[in-house]
Amino acid sequence: MSNLRTKSVEEASARKAVKVELPKERVEAYYGKQVFNRQRMFEYLPKDTYESLVDAIDNRKTLSRELADSVAEGMKRWALDNGARHYTHWFHPLTGSTAEKHDAFIEHDGKGGVVEKFSGKLLVQQEPDASSFPNGGIRNTFEARGYSAWDISSPAFIVDNTLCIPTVFVSYTGESLDYKTPLLRSLNSLDKAATRVARFFIPDVKHVTCNLGWEQEYFLVDEALYAARPDLVMTGRTLMGHESAKNQQLEDHYFGSIPSRVEAFMLDLELECHKLGIPAKTRHNEVAPNQFELAPIFEEANLANDHNLLLMSVMEEVARRHNFRVLLHEKPFAGINGSGKHNNWSLGTDSGVLLFAPGKNERDNFRFVTFVANVMAAVHKHNGLLKASIMNATNAHRLGANEAPPAIISMFLGSAVSAILDKVEQADDINKITIDGKETIRLDIAQIPELTLDNTDRNRTSPFAFTGNRFEYRAVGSSANNASALIALNAAVANQLNEFAEVVEKCVADGMDRDLAILQEVKKLIRESRPIHFDGNGYSEEWKQEAAKRGLDVETSAPLMYDRYMDEASVKMFEKTGVLSKKEIEARNEVKWEMYTKKIQIESRVLGDLAINHIIPAAVRYQSVLLDNVFKIQQLFKGAKADAISSQDLANIEAISDHVSVIKTSVESMINARKRANHIDNERLKAIAYHDDVVPYMEDIRYHIDKLELMVDNEIWPLPKYRELLFIR
Ligand code: ADP
Ligand code: MG
Repeated sequence: MSNLRTKSVEEASARKAVKVELPKERVEAYYGKQVFNRQRMFEYLPKDTYESLVDAIDNRKTLSRELADSVAEGMKRWALDNGARHYTHWFHPLTGSTAEKHDAFIEHDGKGGVVEKFSGKLLVQQEPDASSFPNGGIRNTFEARGYSAWDISSPAFIVDNTLCIPTVFVSYTGESLDYKTPLLRSLNSLDKAATRVARFFIPDVKHVTCNLGWEQEYFLVDEALYAARPDLVMTGRTLMGHESAKNQQLEDHYFGSIPSRVEAFMLDLELECHKLGIPAKTRHNEVAPNQFELAPIFEEANLANDHNLLLMSVMEEVARRHNFRVLLHEKPFAGINGSGKHNNWSLGTDSGVLLFAPGKNERDNFRFVTFVANVMAAVHKHNGLLKASIMNATNAHRLGANEAPPAIISMFLGSAVSAILDKVEQADDINKITIDGKETIRLDIAQIPELTLDNTDRNRTSPFAFTGNRFEYRAVGSSANNASALIALNAAVANQLNEFAEVVEKCVADGMDRDLAILQEVKKLIRESRPIHFDGNGYSEEWKQEAAKRGLDVETSAPLMYDRYMDEASVKMFEKTGVLSKKEIEARNEVKWEMYTKKIQIESRVLGDLAINHIIPAAVRYQSVLLDNVFKIQQLFKGAKADAISSQDLANIEAISDHVSVIKTSVESMINARKRANHIDNERLKAIAYHDDVVPYMEDIRYHIDKLELMVDNEIWPLPKYRELLFIR
């Protein structure tokens, strides 16, 4: 056999680990080397510029033009000193990836030469001609200007000789066209609301910071094998492929030893991360073969998210150096686990108190219960919206697919916290609860057993789990921009905390004791949010039914989930917190539906091509080998004997015909379904048509192709099989 598959398998199996030279210095010496962090600012900026910039960053002020000029000059000097020749505004359009347009620093010097220049104006604001970025109709061509503006809270960095300046991307009329703008708004709103409530317990709180520690899961595939799979190249996942006899059933991959080629890749990747100031810390094998994870130390959420986006692009580059391709798709292979991006999310005060961590005394624990109850309420009220925020065409394969979080948002609390909430809720008569002065309240919650997480208390089936001092939001997809999930979660929690504070403040104004008012409201929240709390098996059939009975959102169609953004409660919540306007929500939904349609459209086209041009010809070739064999048997033997000898071949010939003809008709029907859908103008209805009418054909076609894979001569089969793609040695 001499097809592309064979060559790629041979190439992949001959591959050795690429050697990685580690720097002689220790990590501290090169950590953040490519980042214009405070240390570099201090070195490269005049003293007063440095001080004003730090003050602007810490206190969220805007930069004056003079200050920007002075910062730009220092930043340029640092960048040139470190090999940069270009600069770019780096932003996060609604495609979910990152975008950049590079400009050289050069300007005419008036004498026929050039000088390297960079002004405050160029640092602070740019107008990328970006009418080709998705905008959901916000930017008609006559007002086709959008501009990017520097986010001073995230430091500039150098990648591949280009100075990258993290920016927001907004329309000329001020609407956000990216993920960063609403993320920053949500963090701001959450800061204010959480500070307001935290002050009930810790009076001198100035700010509350939202922390994010993401865990990035991914697959690696050898690049030769990848190149031999047009479906991986075009869609990021395998659209066909029969399960390998061995996959993850022996559970031998998770935390197993890391193959040497992969270890070299990880080492190289961590080195790049550290130079870019990404605090990569943990690496290990994941559950599925060829699946791995990288997790950094948590950081402030906006910075952490920039680092995640940067990591995703750095990963792709480093993987190529090691003859790998990294697959960030949520479900590259059917039948084995998919990839997510666990978002460890917490709130901390400027004085260092983690608001979701229980404390040492009654007062601390009262604060703890208050914050947990508010998160419960927010997640409960907006469970449908939160699910919509993590849903897209690729994550849809993972959610509800019996391995990753189910397509229902619920909250895991664990036995210790559940018991505490029960106790608080059952503190029956509010007036009988003793208040010791104004300081403590007898809730009998002084003793919270140390919340260490033994494995028994870890529920991997929950999409949103309490894990000791934070929540782990596990439903986010591996390829997603975390911001989408965080925008919805932060806004929902901010809004909830504001409503909570209003109720408490009103009771106090009416003469009620504040602690009693808090307790009364917390009890109410716990009672009302009960339905969101579920510590059982999230993958079970019973849970789906139970969840529906509890009134939780059980919708599984991505295009329909997006409707939750337009619910009155969602729009009100986003508008009240100032995170998104109705116009922005509408525009974003248009983009979501459009993206959904396009992704399915591409997959369906690739599948059709592969089925007709790769699979059917191979099946027919093998069928004619069988036919030839039968023909010769009939020549050699006669009558009943010949029939007996060729019976198995005849059965196979028929079976191949059956599969081939189903594939042919299904591809035709799928194309017609696409044509009908393409005529629909409304983006929402078009996406629904793709979901309802196109996707089922894809599943059907795959089923028959995978059957053929088991029948057709291995030598003829054109695409690398799962067993060849999945086991890096
Ligand atoms: P797991 O066992 O689930 O992999 P880890 O202990 O490795 O969890 O932590 C996963 C991520 O959670 C890391 O990025 C870690 O820094 C982060 N993390 C730990 N504590 C917090 C916190 N309080 N807030 C946010 N993230 C946190
Ligand atoms: Mg975790």
